[in-house]
Amino acid sequence: MDWTLARRAKRLNPSVIREILKLTERPGIVSLAGGLPAAEGFPVEALREATARVLAGQPREALQYAASEGHGPLREQVAADLAARGLRIAASQVLITTGSQQGLDLVGKVLLDPGSEVAVEQPTYLGALQAFASSEPRVVALAGDDDGPRPDAIAAARGARFAYLLPNFQNPSGRCLGAARRDAIVDAALAAGVPIVEDDPYADLWLDAPPPAPLAARAGDAAIYLGSFSKVLAPGLRVGYLVAPKSLYPKLLQAKQAADLHTPGFNQRIVHEVLASGMLPAHLDALRTRYRIHRDAMQAALERHLGVFGTACRWQRPAGGMFFWVELPEGIDAAALLPRAVDAGVAYVPGAAFYAAAPRANTLRLSFATVAPSRIDAGIEALARVLREAWAPAQLPLRRGAVASALH
Ligand code: PMP
Repeated sequence: MDWTLARRAKRLNPSVIREILKLTERPGIVSLAGGLPAAEGFPVEALREATARVLAGQPREALQYAASEGHGPLREQVAADLAARGLRIAASQVLITTGSQQGLDLVGKVLLDPGSEVAVEQPTYLGALQAFASSEPRVVALAGDDDGPRPDAIAAARGARFAYLLPNFQNPSGRCLGAARRDAIVDAALAAGVPIVEDDPYADLWLDAPPPAPLAARAGDAAIYLGSFSKVLAPGLRVGYLVAPKSLYPKLLQAKQAADLHTPGFNQRIVHEVLASGMLPAHLDALRTRYRIHRDAMQAALERHLGVFGTACRWQRPAGGMFFWVELPEGIDAAALLPRAVDAGVAYVPGAAFYAAAPRANTLRLSFATVAPSRIDAGIEALARVLREAWAPAQLPLRRGAVASALH
């Protein structure tokens, strides 16, 4: 049969990351490509006990169809946790979603028409670009500097349906916006009438100091805020949430009803039960300790092995989250280099896929979350090896002396 695809389906592409992950399933590869949290960090015992309590307490309610808005006590809990972070909202504004990825999909469905403008950071979260793509928007890139998206770029996005922003330990760049930049961005957005969609799954994964308050705390009903339990508990639960202004909430709820009726009530009750047990602060402490060790191992490995490239290779030590963002020497295409890197035993995600426009081919994303520190070092060493081979021939005719000494 010759099926005729809808226009929106033609725009759907396989995730670049998933394609790369297939490549990296070969044994022996140090994969710094994945975006998965560390499985060793999943609170298995606490989840086992919480599940038993849910099944012992109200098993039939837990296994029944449930309210589309989400499990009431979990919505209350989310509102209380956000208040502690400076975001004061009512529990009635919380919509529990099937991962925050569903939140992005619902936002796209409710706010975007074909051709409507959506403003994104450069680089930005690939999964959001995918979620919005089916609404066929015109994606415009926000100019930025070392401190994040520039307020004047937000002002210039006047007319956009929303600006999609990731202030905390951004996927993919790891960057965290400072308080002053947050304020300036929100003020610019309010002045220009550009609503904000704030995606914040990494807030609790701070490694040095808690991040400043969310953008939504200042933006009020000019913001939708998305959160997730994927990185702090486990992504297999598929429990996330969005917080919407009262005026928008019913539409998002209706879109959710059309999508899946409700987020699994069983999982929501398990999440609520586990949070109510009071285990989260100690769990987060342990998680941060684990991620800090990994982050520091990657920073040390990068210094050790990419240091020879001097300022031609640049990265910033992320203050949280799961990712390093590395700029390779100009002229090196990280996607073209990947097959050689995989042959050498390391995988990463080329950065170009994370750009809505004018991709920077010499960038890549490295995850420090899942790989053991000793393997992180081996992976970065392999990366440095293929990089030297790719870079040196390009440089030698011009700067033979400088490069030859730098490489030894
Ligand atoms: N937003 C960002 C920035 C992410 O990195 C992810 C997970 N990779 C998500 C949203 C989706 O997370 P989940 O659906 O598991 O909550």
